Amino acid sequence: MTDVHEDARRTDAPMAMGDEGDLARLRRLVADQLPGLAPRIDKEGYHPQTFLRDYGRVYGFGHAVDHGYGGRPGGLKGVITGMEACSEHCVSTGFLVWCQTSCAWYLQKSGNTPLKRRLLPALCSGQQAAGTGLSNLLKARSQLEPLRLRAVAVPGGYRIHGTLPWVSNLATGAVFAVAAATSGGTLMALARVGAPGLTLRRAGPFCALEGTSTMSCRFDDVFLADSEVIAPDEGFDDYFARMRAGLILAQMGMALGLVQGALTLIDETHSAAQPANAFIEHQPEDLRERLRALRAETLAAADGLDGGAPGRFDEILAIRARGARLALDAAHSALLHCGANGYLAHHPAQRRVREAYFVALVTPALKHLTREIALAKSGDPLPAA
Ligand SMILES: Cc1cc2nc3c(=O)[nH]c(=O)nc-3n(C[C@H](O)[C@H](O)[C@H](O)COP(=O)(O)OP(=O)(O)OC[C@H]3O[C@@H](n4cnc5c(N)ncnc54)[C@H](O)[C@@H]3O)c2cc1C
Repeated sequence: MTDVHEDARRTDAPMAMGDEGDLARLRRLVADQLPGLAPRIDKEGYHPQTFLRDYGRVYGFGHAVDHGYGGRPGGLKGVITGMEACSEHCVSTGFLVWCQTSCAWYLQKSGNTPLKRRLLPALCSGQQAAGTGLSNLLKARSQLEPLRLRAVAVPGGYRIHGTLPWVSNLATGAVFAVAAATSGGTLMALARVGAPGLTLRRAGPFCALEGTSTMSCRFDDVFLADSEVIAPDEGFDDYFARMRAGLILAQMGMALGLVQGALTLIDETHSAAQPANAFIEHQPEDLRERLRALRAETLAAADGLDGGAPGRFDEILAIRARGARLALDAAHSALLHCGANGYLAHHPAQRRVREAYFVALVTPALKHLTREIALAKSGDPLPAA
């Protein structure tokens, strides 16, 4: 078991957010469980539901949610810090934390008070599993693909048609956020695993992230009641502008944690070819410095979003892009430092490389971010985040 005080002495340990005791307990839970679970998650596609329930009990998924709805203090920083602690050992688990916290974030930003009262406390505690099927929405908003779901208004709600190819953390009874095209624009609502007309098919197998319970979701005339609408089509642009920056910035928990994990592998390497390791591209001192700077920027941006001084959206995109690049560089360097040992199938170094590619391709993918940043530079400035 990792000594909490030892963690606190690490110069690069994440700053404690919210309740220090909660974070210390989370780090202990992570150190106890994730190093052992990570290979099973990776190789056997084990979906760590018990760990996630423990995460909910010890730390909670509601740091960016109001106290009255079951949230805890800490804001987006608390969300990112918890995800980072998991991703240091296992990005699959960090991503599942992002899925759950993102769904809570969408509800926090919603004007549907009865839905918030009914669901948010269980989302924050982890008793209700949750996912997010919004990659399609983010790409649609960037004109990269059309919205894949259509919503037809009927008395009391909507009938939904279409397919989302990938939605993760879909355990039995899970809820997940979807966006659909209406006759008047776009709406967001919560769908539920088990709803009549909803067919799930396991996606993959993937080269990593196998334990994320990722499903293709086909909607054949699925009824979604008005009571499940997170954001109606009227005023959707305002809603989207309120929630998109936090959704994207929170993914930094995966990048920061993975980089720290890769640095630990480098530090622990005892290669006979050690003198040659000094010639590997992306030396640990450089990676450590980039990590320190990026973590500081990420947490400052999270503070800005929490405090209502959001800064510019293109700056959030730039942070997220740097996170993806740093994850790739750090994982690459860790594998080369570990040499042939790192090439063994069970060695964490090659898992970190496969996980780093996920950080770079999960929406908004690095290519998507780079395009948005280029567009922002070439045209009118983007609105505030
Ligand atoms: C393990 C894993 C978990 C994921 N979990 C989630 C999640 O929880 N929520 C979520 O919203 N997204 C999820 N995604 C999707 C992810 O965020 C990206 O959107 C996806 O990887 C593709 O993004 P891209 O921009 O690289 O598009 P590309 O891969 O470049 O795709 C280009 C176009 O082809 C379409 N396309 C490609 N493959 C398929 C396919 N098999 N079926 C249908 N259309 C296809 C894409 O939608 C897109 O329009 C997950 C992906 C993976 C690999």
